[in-house]
Amino acid sequence: MSIETSAIESRRTFAIISHPDAGKTTLTEKLLLFGGAVQQAGAVKARGDQRRARSDWMKVEQERGISVTASVMTFEADGCTFNLLDTPGHEDFSEDTYRTLTAVDSAIMVIDAAKGIETRTLKLFEVCRLRDVPIVTFVNKMDREARDPFELMDEIEKTLALDVTPATWPIGQGRDFHGCYDLIHDELILIDRGAGNKLPEIEKCAGLDDPKIDARLPAALVEKLREDVEMIRGLCQPFDEESYRAGHLTPVFFGSALRSFGVRELLQGLGEMAPSPRPAKATTRMVAPTEGKVAGFVFKIQANMDKNHRDRVAFVRLVSGEFKRGMKMKHVRSGRMLAINNPVQFMAGDRETADLAYAGDILGIPNHGTLRIGDTLTEGEDLAFLGVPSFAPEMLRRVKLDDPMKVKHLRRALEQLAEEGASQVFRRQIGGDYVVGVVGPLQFDVLKSRLLAEYGLDIEFESVPFELARWVDADDKKTIETFADANKMNLAEDHDGALVYLARNQWYLQRAKDDYPNVRFLATREQI
Ligand code: GDP
Repeated sequence: MSIETSAIESRRTFAIISHPDAGKTTLTEKLLLFGGAVQQAGAVKARGDQRRARSDWMKVEQERGISVTASVMTFEADGCTFNLLDTPGHEDFSEDTYRTLTAVDSAIMVIDAAKGIETRTLKLFEVCRLRDVPIVTFVNKMDREARDPFELMDEIEKTLALDVTPATWPIGQGRDFHGCYDLIHDELILIDRGAGNKLPEIEKCAGLDDPKIDARLPAALVEKLREDVEMIRGLCQPFDEESYRAGHLTPVFFGSALRSFGVRELLQGLGEMAPSPRPAKATTRMVAPTEGKVAGFVFKIQANMDKNHRDRVAFVRLVSGEFKRGMKMKHVRSGRMLAINNPVQFMAGDRETADLAYAGDILGIPNHGTLRIGDTLTEGEDLAFLGVPSFAPEMLRRVKLDDPMKVKHLRRALEQLAEEGASQVFRRQIGGDYVVGVVGPLQFDVLKSRLLAEYGLDIEFESVPFELARWVDADDKKTIETFADANKMNLAEDHDGALVYLARNQWYLQRAKDDYPNVRFLATREQI
C-alpha cells in the first residue's frame, strides 16, 4: 500500500507546557486564530464553557475556576496540519499531562517574561526531557515589565541545562515594547502600539544594518538592538536543527500572546523546525510513521463528554499509516478485531467524523470501556507500544459506602474510573476494601462528585494507614510468592490485577526493600 508521505511530513503534533498563568490559554487562542481555525479569539474559552456546562461533574472545576480536561485541536497553517494537544493546567491532574506528553512529537514551553522558569514548567520540562521531546520556547508578556532577555536566556540555559538560541529578539519591553527582530528571516516585526489588537506589521530587512530599521525605531533602541545581536552572535551558538530535535537546544521566541504578537513567528518556527511524526518504540520493534499499516495507542480516555450518551472516548495517537473510517483494527490486549466506524477528530474543539487520518493525528474512538489507557490498535500485528505510564499515587483513601447493596456497582464504577486514568483503585487482599489513590487532593473531589452524578453512588473517603503504593515485580515467581505470603496485610491488586504493595510510610517501604532485595518496588508502571 502506498502512503501519502507528504501528509505525514506536514504534521506537527505538539503540546504547550507552562506554569499556570504564564499564558497558555491565551496563546492557544491566538495559535488557532493564526491557523484560521477560529474566527474570533476568545472562542476557545466560549466553546470550553459550553462543553463544560454539559457535564455535571465538571462543576467541580467550574467552582474552582480551573480547567481539568484535555482536548485536541487541529488546525492548518503554512501548509502544515497542526495537532495541539491541550493539557490540564492544574497540578493535581498532572498524570493526564504526562500521558499526553507521550503522544506529542514536540512542545512549546511558555514562560512569563517577568517570572522566568517556574516550578511546574520545570517539572513538565523534565518529563519532556525523559523522552527527548524537542522544545521551542516562547517568552510571553513582553508588553509588560519583563526581566532582561539575556538574564532569561541564561536562566533557561542554567536551570534546564539546555542550549538556547534566540529566533527573535525583543526591541524594548513593557510600555516601550516596539516589537522583535526575526533573526532567522531578517524581518522587523512591529507591534501596533495603539489599541493593541491589530496584527503586527512586518518589514523585510536586508540584515541589521538596513536603514529601514533606523527609519522605523527610536535611535537608542536601534543602537541597543545592534549591540544585543552582536553579543548574541558571540555568546549563543547558531540554531542547529539536529541539536534541537535531539532535545539539547531550544530556539527562543519573544512576544505577547495577549497582543497577538510573536505568535505568527512561533507558528512559522514550529512549521519549519519541529519534527513531523517520529518513530515509536513497541515491544517487538520500532514502528515508523511511513509504514503502510495503521497502528496507534490510547493515551487518554475521557468519559461522559456528552452526558446524554454516557460515552467514553478513547484518544488514540496514530503512529503509522493512513487510517480510513470503517477500518477493522486489532485490539491487541484482547485479540479482538474492532470496526472503527465512527471515529472523531477535533477541529478547534468541535467534534467531526474522521474519514481519513494519518500518522501523527489523534482519533477519538467512542466505546463502552473496551479501550483503556496504554492499549495498542494495529491492522493485525501483535505488538504493543511502550511508554504510556501509570504513576504511583501520592495519596490514598478508603472508599466508604453506606449502602452494602451497592458494592458491586461501586466496584464497576471504580474500575471504569481507573481505566480512564481518573484515579487508581486498589482492592486489598484481606478484607476486600477499595482503596483509591490519586496524585493530587482535588482528584478526590472530582471522584466523589462523579460517583454521585454518573453512578448515583454517595460515598465518603476515609483515611488509611498507608501513604505509599508501589507495584511489585520480580524476575521469578517464587520470590513474589514468598514476599506475598509474608505481607498479605499490605497487598492489593490494581484494576488490571497487578500486585501492589501498600506501605505505611517511606521507612516501611525501605525496610521491605532491604528485606526483599530481589523484589522490585515500582513507582511507575508502563501500561501494555
Ligand atoms: P494560563 O493559565 O497559562 O492558561 O494563562 P492565561 O492564558 O489564562 O493567562 C493568564 C493571565 O495573563 C490572563 O489574565 C491573561 O490575559 C494574561 N496574559 C496572557 N498573555 C499575556 C500577554 O502577552 N501580556 C499580558 N500583559 N498579559 C497576558
